[in-house]
Amino acid sequence: MKITVIGTGYVGLPTGVGLAELGNDVICLDIDEKKINQLKSGKVTIFEEGLEDLFQKNTANGKVTFSTSFAESIPESDLVILAVGTPPNPITKEADMKYIKAAAEELAHHLSGYTVIAIKSTVPVNTGNAVEDIIRRTNPSADFDVISLPEFLREGFAIHDFFNPDRIIVGANSERAKDVIRTLYEPFKDKCTILYVSRQSSETIKYASNAFLAMKIQYINEMADFCETSGADIYEVAKGMGLDSRIGAKFLVPGPGYGGFCFPKDTNAMAYMGKFNGVDLSLIETTIKSNERRKINMAKRILDMVSDKKNPTIAVLGSAFKGGTDDCRESPALQIIEIMLAHDVNIRLYDPQAMPNTKAILGNMITYCNSAYEAIGGADALAVLTDWAEFKELDLEKIKMLLTKPQIADYRNTFDCKKAKELGFEIKSLGRKL
Ligand code: NAD
Repeated sequence: MKITVIGTGYVGLPTGVGLAELGNDVICLDIDEKKINQLKSGKVTIFEEGLEDLFQKNTANGKVTFSTSFAESIPESDLVILAVGTPPNPITKEADMKYIKAAAEELAHHLSGYTVIAIKSTVPVNTGNAVEDIIRRTNPSADFDVISLPEFLREGFAIHDFFNPDRIIVGANSERAKDVIRTLYEPFKDKCTILYVSRQSSETIKYASNAFLAMKIQYINEMADFCETSGADIYEVAKGMGLDSRIGAKFLVPGPGYGGFCFPKDTNAMAYMGKFNGVDLSLIETTIKSNERRKINMAKRILDMVSDKKNPTIAVLGSAFKGGTDDCRESPALQIIEIMLAHDVNIRLYDPQAMPNTKAILGNMITYCNSAYEAIGGADALAVLTDWAEFKELDLEKIKMLLTKPQIADYRNTFDCKKAKELGFEIKSLGRKL
């Protein structure tokens, strides 16, 4: 099948490369010329486990190519996948549809022959109708169907998730469009459920799923807080809860709050849609507030550790919103760092992959280090904010020697608390017996 993926970011690039690996001819299209030039020159623009190899293989054999030209890519395509960003409106927090609308209008000019337009971006309910209207208005003779094809990949596992989806949701009103999708996903037909629903249901499934997951994270975070006051251990509690198949064992790990490009903006967008439709979505609104409070509390706990020192220095490990990605968008780590900076704290940061993205946001407000130990050297406390596996390998005895005072805020429960205490550390971890 000939496919154009519009938007070559954290979703579009792994999707395009994955579809090429399945044998399709894919053009990844983006308006960001710099990004496309980098991809054309053989450089992967994001960090994702397993992406580099698939990228090199499928660019070498010509199955995936890159372009900034709608005129070059759209007419040949049987399927056009929209994977552009839908960032929050800074004031209302509703999903901003400007990129979707611009892409829909531009692609409409170049449609030729029957084409399925699949919206993979996370979009408010009824966006399918809006995109259909834009295309029909722009090119009244075009032969097309618009479907909803929401994306459920996890950053850090994008390639794994592409080839091993839990489910594929297709919101389509036309049998002709469903046939195209059946052909596309033929390799997955025995691997997972492919659920065909209405466009509106499909659009809602994505938001309802993300809001539920955000709520689950915040729930276990609150339980971790409770454990700290009750003598219980959050891992024992989570294990006991997770054995109930109605609850499930996943996403029951405490942390410094949820972040990333999806949960914060999607919970806000869902809350906005609730207000707009006159529906009480107070569970989601409470989740958003609880997550905001959590990051402030997390920063406060670190500040308390160094309250006896003027202009203290904190070594921070991790700025990505979670391990396995270089994505810093809405990262709790960055939000905690920003609160600390406002309290005249010096930050020495190390992240295995996210340093360039962090520099683009924080510039020269902090010190960037080449290794975890370099960041820790001379700091008054250590804060672990991202769950990179390599941080688990750090040597507590060496850390103790490098810090001016043995204190750790371990918000990813990286270290063995018992061992840390035996070595004389003051350690603040989440929901564990100390
Ligand atoms: P991103 O910002 O990484 O990528 C979006 C890309 O779209 C950018 O490269 C941008 O230049 C490009 N773009 C914008 N307007 C364009 C246009 N008119 N024509 C061509 N390209 C255009 O965003 P992302 O993280 O890949 O997310 C994309 C969508 O997928 C969002 O709606 C997001 O909510 C959703 N989503 C993201 C994830 C995730 O983990 N990141 C998971 C599921 C769903």
